[in-house]
Amino acid sequence: MCLESASKRMSPFSHIIAGPCAAETEQQVLTAAAALKPLHVIFRAGIWKPRTAPESFQGIGDKGLEWLQRVQQECGLEVATEVATVEQVEKATKAGIDYLWIGARTAANPIQVQALADAIARHATHRLKGIWVKNPVNEDAALWAGDIRRMQATGLPVWAIHRGCEHRPCWAMANLLRHEMKDVPLLLDPSHLTGDAQQVATLCQTAADLCMNGLMVEVHPTPKTALSDSRQQITPETFSHILQTTAIQDKQDTELKWLRKEIDEADDKLWDAIMQRMLVSEKIGAYKKLQDIAVIQPTRFQEILSRRKQWGKAHGISEPTVEAIMNALHQESIQRQT
Ligand code: PEP
Ligand code: MN
Repeated sequence: MCLESASKRMSPFSHIIAGPCAAETEQQVLTAAAALKPLHVIFRAGIWKPRTAPESFQGIGDKGLEWLQRVQQECGLEVATEVATVEQVEKATKAGIDYLWIGARTAANPIQVQALADAIARHATHRLKGIWVKNPVNEDAALWAGDIRRMQATGLPVWAIHRGCEHRPCWAMANLLRHEMKDVPLLLDPSHLTGDAQQVATLCQTAADLCMNGLMVEVHPTPKTALSDSRQQITPETFSHILQTTAIQDKQDTELKWLRKEIDEADDKLWDAIMQRMLVSEKIGAYKKLQDIAVIQPTRFQEILSRRKQWGKAHGISEPTVEAIMNALHQESIQRQT
């Protein structure tokens, strides 16, 4: 496959970041960078990895900085890595890394983000071109915006990266940030968003449909052998194909497209909650059977219904609507208990 062709097409995105989740070996880094060079990406690779389990690969550490310098010199690509401590900021800025990013776990801790912002302000040289802030692991638009403001105070350009929470998109949070910080480029990280390589292509098109400003995608020469996030990484060839086939969208109805993402997300949560309710209902059914208690308990249902009607009244949802929904849920529960 000719990777060159992708670079000749008009891209829907101003910023494309790609590279492996983690720098593993010098050869893996240089192979990935050489394959991505024709796509004119900013090359990413984590060298200090914030992993959930201490048994997992924690990143190659300081020597990865030299490999990233080779990528700059030999491929002419700009490079980026994640920083989570003041010491890492010092080392990365000294090594002349072009961009630094704040990962989702760090982004959840404003004290640490402030310490990193202070360290960046102290150590940044003209070679540092910008800072990227991923959304925090918890769905909190205000915290994400606060992190961005802390980083903006360094005077460097700051971009926001929507990487979802617990392998799910948080479109409502991203849309809030998009409205609050209109001048901050908003990128999508489709790799961490679902943790599934099969969904990367669709999500890249979604980013284009929503007129997002760019992508950060995990690309590995041999994803199956990756030491971290192997299920979500794609090959350079697949990424090139995705860029070639991602269609540019007109900007019409962008607001509506964002709101539809929000409503689909609200529906997903609603149906998850309904499923949760059914699972509890089944447990109650098993208990009733064991204790020889009747499935239908009219007084209990009237209690639930009247509480929900009160709630509906306070929230502007009409009584017939509350009644219809509660009756449907009750019927489904009875069916599961009998
Ligand atoms: C990463 O980009 O490699 C990473 C660890 O991302 P996140 O902080 O979004 O989990
Ligand atoms: Mn990763």
